[in-house]
Amino acid sequence: LNQVSNILKKHNLRNTDSRVDILSLFLNNSKALSHSDLENSLPSNFDRVTIYRTLKSFVENGILHKVPDDSGNPRYALCNTCTDHNHNHDHVHFKCEKCGNTTCIVNLNIPDFNLPKGYTTSEINILVQGICKNCN
Ligand SMILES: [Zn+2]
Ligand SMILES: [Zn+2]
Ligand SMILES: [Zn+2]
Repeated sequence: LNQVSNILKKHNLRNTDSRVDILSLFLNNSKALSHSDLENSLPSNFDRVTIYRTLKSFVENGILHKVPDDSGNPRYALCNTCTDHNHNHDHVHFKCEKCGNTTCIVNLNIPDFNLPKGYTTSEINILVQGICKNCN
């Protein structure tokens, strides 16, 4: 719980039940969580709107980032390498075809894309699918 309070404090967010519970779930999971994962893991007194708002404020405050998903259901994962001033989510996300878990793989270099003239990059999303180390 201390780790949770420290993160909230660092981002100037008040400790509320929903923030503490939702952040704890992310800290206890190494995988990215979707809205419905959260709904299923949280006590039933959490309504969808509260979850939605909490996720939104975590993303805005640099605690979580959105993880692309081919199903169209966004997932969220903790920001590990971000600082308040430097958000960089240009890392590889790996989705396991067996267990369905998506994990951030941050220590991989993403190649520099040579885009055609006239194109500029603002964000790179790489979703790699395969079998994760737990299922292999
Ligand atoms: Zn971030
Ligand atoms: Zn797996
Ligand atoms: Zn990530």
